Amino acid sequence: MQTIDYIRKIKTQDEEIARQREEINAFNEAYRVLSEELHEKNENFQSLEKKLKTIENNFRRKYSENIALLKALMAILKFPDYKYIIKIIYHSCKKLIGAQAGLVSLLTEDNIQKKVLYSDIGKYSCTVDGDFPMSLRGSMEKSYKLQTPVYENNFPDSEWTEYLPKGHIHLQNVMFVPFMIENKVCGLLGFANKPGEFNDDDKRMTLAFSEFISIALHNNRILQTLKEKVKKIEQLNKQLKNKNEDLEKILYIMTHDLRSPLINIHGFSTEISEIIEDIGNKLANFTNLETLRESLSPLLNSELPLFFNYIFVSINKLDSLISALLKLFRLGRTEMTVQKIDMNNLLADVISNFEYGLKEKNVDVVIGKLPSCKGDLSLIHQVFSNIIDNALKYGSPGKKQKIVISGTKSKNFSVFSIEDNGKGISPNEREKIFELFYRSDNSVSGEGLGLAASKKIIEMHGGKIWVDSVIGEGCKFYISLNN
Ligand code: ADP
Repeated sequence: MQTIDYIRKIKTQDEEIARQREEINAFNEAYRVLSEELHEKNENFQSLEKKLKTIENNFRRKYSENIALLKALMAILKFPDYKYIIKIIYHSCKKLIGAQAGLVSLLTEDNIQKKVLYSDIGKYSCTVDGDFPMSLRGSMEKSYKLQTPVYENNFPDSEWTEYLPKGHIHLQNVMFVPFMIENKVCGLLGFANKPGEFNDDDKRMTLAFSEFISIALHNNRILQTLKEKVKKIEQLNKQLKNKNEDLEKILYIMTHDLRSPLINIHGFSTEISEIIEDIGNKLANFTNLETLRESLSPLLNSELPLFFNYIFVSINKLDSLISALLKLFRLGRTEMTVQKIDMNNLLADVISNFEYGLKEKNVDVVIGKLPSCKGDLSLIHQVFSNIIDNALKYGSPGKKQKIVISGTKSKNFSVFSIEDNGKGISPNEREKIFELFYRSDNSVSGEGLGLAASKKIIEMHGGKIWVDSVIGEGCKFYISLNN
């Protein structure tokens, strides 16, 4: 009995153990499933974290890119000086891609060499002259030809390393980016010594910055063209204003100077027609030839010739006024050929044309060393001839004449002076003598045109003419011209 109980107990215990084992198995299975799930979740979590990190990095990079691009864009909008704008664009790009040095260069007209517009040696030292001419070769040439950014991450091993001039900074890696105007490469951005290596992301970004440089250069071209146009319009306005002033002067001359000879002609013609009427009457009522001859004689021999003479003088005056006007008109239309003029040669030639007059009057002529100037050779010749002609004409009677010509040079202008020891000009006439037909001395022949024409010529050149004088002692004419 005891044994049966014992066996039963053991069986019950076995069953209990089997049940517990099943439970443990079930628990183990549940644990395994759970830990598998957990593992899977963990893996998902890690990949999610990784993705998040990538997104964050991308975001950070995009943020830096946008800030750098914005800075470059702001420079274009904010500053007028294209060189300064390009410097800012370059530095924004350099910082973004992490290069250590670089340059911005423009290509020469023939696209063979590059002129450095801005050079940045960073922390390096460099003894190469900034204007050192550099040919397009290696990655630079490749970038120029392919019109795309090109990088070289192992520069010391490239064949181009030996072409570097002595004293040039060490180049570990380089990258060149072309920029263009009107679909033509006009320059290159260069970067060097990026820690690590240049990559395709740098290529993408530098391209965007090179577009900005193209815009800055293009804007500058437009600005320069606009400035030139404005300058041209201003010049045209000035010419128009001068033309208007000329026309006003001519109108004034027509109403005053041209009218007085016309009035004379009209007056004397009326007198002549009255005389002719008188002669007609005398002929109609003539009875005795002798008395007729006597009464006609003063009319035919004295009055008529006198009045005709007045008419001829007036006609001559009209003729000379009209031809003087024409001369001045033509002057306004002259196409100037401006060139550098050796004034020593020009004055020697002017003086040689007056050789006869100077010898005849035994005039001393002293010419100093003269600076050059810019102008139309024949017009400037005309001006100096007019003034020397006047110096000869308006000498003081009984005084040995002397003419001294000298010149000085400042930064933009050369100033010439022609001094005589003649009769001089009163202070209130110093401006008037440059007016058309103004003459203060009718004892000497002239048209009153020389100085008006000279003033016009000098002003057409953008220069000035003026006179200093002490009456009885002489005149000193000054002419300033661009040099
Ligand atoms: P023109 O000599 O034919 O009269 P210009 O225009 O050359 O005409 O000169 C205008 C006037 O200025 C002259 O009539 C003269 O009275 C005065 N003038 C010019 N040059 C001199 C001079 N060197 N000395 C004195 N008077 C002068």
